[in-house]
Amino acid sequence: MEKRTKILATVGPSSDSIEILEGLIRAGVNVFRLNFSHGTHEYHSKTFNNIKEAEKKVGTRVGVLQDLCGPKIRVGKLKYDFELKQDDLIEFHIEQLEGEKIAANRYKLSINQPRILSLLKDGELIYLYDGNIQTKVVEMNDKFITAKVHNFGKLSSNKGVNFPNTKINIDVITQKDKDDLLWGVQNKVDFIAISFVQRKEDILYAKKLLKEHGGEAHVFAKIEKFDAVENIDEILEVSDGLMVARGDLGIEVPYYKVPSIQKSIIRKANAASKPVITATQMLLSMAEKETATRAEISDVANAVLDGTDAVMLSEESAIGKNPINVVETMSNTIKEAEKIYHYNKFSDFSFFDETDVIASSTGRLAERLDVKAIISITGSGKSAKKMARYRIKNDIYAICHDERVARSLTIAWGIEPTLVIEKSTLNGMLGSTFTNALKMGWIDHEHTYILTAGYPAGVEGSTNFIRIVKKNEIDYLAGLEA
Ligand code: PGA
Ligand code: MN
Repeated sequence: MEKRTKILATVGPSSDSIEILEGLIRAGVNVFRLNFSHGTHEYHSKTFNNIKEAEKKVGTRVGVLQDLCGPKIRVGKLKYDFELKQDDLIEFHIEQLEGEKIAANRYKLSINQPRILSLLKDGELIYLYDGNIQTKVVEMNDKFITAKVHNFGKLSSNKGVNFPNTKINIDVITQKDKDDLLWGVQNKVDFIAISFVQRKEDILYAKKLLKEHGGEAHVFAKIEKFDAVENIDEILEVSDGLMVARGDLGIEVPYYKVPSIQKSIIRKANAASKPVITATQMLLSMAEKETATRAEISDVANAVLDGTDAVMLSEESAIGKNPINVVETMSNTIKEAEKIYHYNKFSDFSFFDETDVIASSTGRLAERLDVKAIISITGSGKSAKKMARYRIKNDIYAICHDERVARSLTIAWGIEPTLVIEKSTLNGMLGSTFTNALKMGWIDHEHTYILTAGYPAGVEGSTNFIRIVKKNEIDYLAGLEA
C-alpha cells in the first residue's frame, strides 16, 4: 500500500465532475464528504452519482460521508452592517427583529435560536462572526440581554454566533438535518457526521433516527463544542468514529488548546479502535495558491504522526483552484511522514476483549516472521480495525461478507477493503479469498501471509483463527472448496 493514513475530500463546485473525482481518487482520496451546509438534494444526488461513476472507472472502493449541517446559531438580518467598537453595547432580543443601531454606542439584533438567551449568565461570553468579535454579558431582563463588545469589528447579517461557556443543550438534529438524513439513508451513504454534538444522547438520537428508517451508516461525532470535549469519553463510547472539527472547535475553546485537544482525542479514539478524522484548514492556502505553507505541510504530517486515521480537506477540494494538486500534496506529505511513523505500538493499549488479544498476537507474528500482508476476514469490520489499532507495519487486507462493511473500512487507517465474499465454511472462505486474491493480483507466490478469521462466520466478535500462510501453500488454499 502506498500510504496508510486516509484522505477525506469535500466535494463542491471545483470537484464534482466525474473527471476530477476520478483524478482525486487516483491522487489518494479514500472518502468523499458531502457537506449538507450547502447545496440542494438535487445537487448532492448528482454529485453522489458522479462519485459512483468515478469509483467504477478507477476500480477502488471509496466511501461517502454525509456531513449534516446541524444547528448553526446565527445573527438574524441586520438593516446594515454594524461597525462595532470596544465598549459598544449589543442587545440580543428574544423577539425576532431586524438589527439596527438604537443609540450612539448601542445596537440591537436577534438570533435564530432565541431560547438560548435565557440560559446565559452574567459575565458569560458571546462570540460573533466565527469568534472575530467577542462580547460579554453585562445585563439581562426578560426581553433581551445586553453584552459589551471587547474588540472592534464589522458585523453583517447571518454571521455565526458561539457561546463558549454556556451549555446550550440545543437539539443537534434540526428538521433540515432529518430531511437530509433521509436522503442519506436512501442513497446508502457510508458515514454520517453529526455537527455540534454536546453529549452522548445526541449520537444515540441520531442512531435511533437512522435505525427507524433502516439506515446502516456509521455515525461520526464532530467534536467542535467545548462541552463535547468535556464529555468526550461518553461520546466516543456510543459513536462509530470522531472528527476533530478544528474550525468551530477553535472558536469554542481558547485557540491555544486546539493542538492538545487534537492529540488527546486521537489517542482516545485509537485506544478504542475507532476511526478519527482531523479536519479543517489543513492546506487552506491551497484553495487559492499552487503551494501550501510550510506550517500547513507540518500540520498534515503532525496529524499523521499523532495517529489520526484520516486527514480532511474542506474548501481546498470543494471550491479551491486545483483540488487534484491539493490531494497530491497531501498524499506526498503523508507518505513522507509515514517513513518515520511509530509502527507496531503493541505496548500502548489495553485489551478489552479476545479480538484485541488476537489482533495484537497477529501483529507480533507479522513483525517476527517476514510476512507481506495480513489478510483479515472480518464480519463487522471490527477485527480489522482492532488490527489497525496497533498501526501494524504490514498491509492489512480486509475481506468482508457485505459491501457496506467493506465501505465502512475506507476511512480506517491502513486497511484496504479488497474483497467481498459470501459467508461459507472455513474452507469455502479460504478458497474464494485466495482464488480472488491471486486473480486480482494483491498476493503473490513469493511471500508469506497471515490470515485471521472468525469461524463459524457471521458471529460478531468471533475472531478465533490465525493461520500462517506460506508461499507454497497458496495454491492449495486457493483450491479449497466449501
Ligand atoms: P464544518 O465542520 O466544516 O462543517 O464547520 C468542520 C469544522 O468545524 O472544523
Ligand atoms: Mn464545524
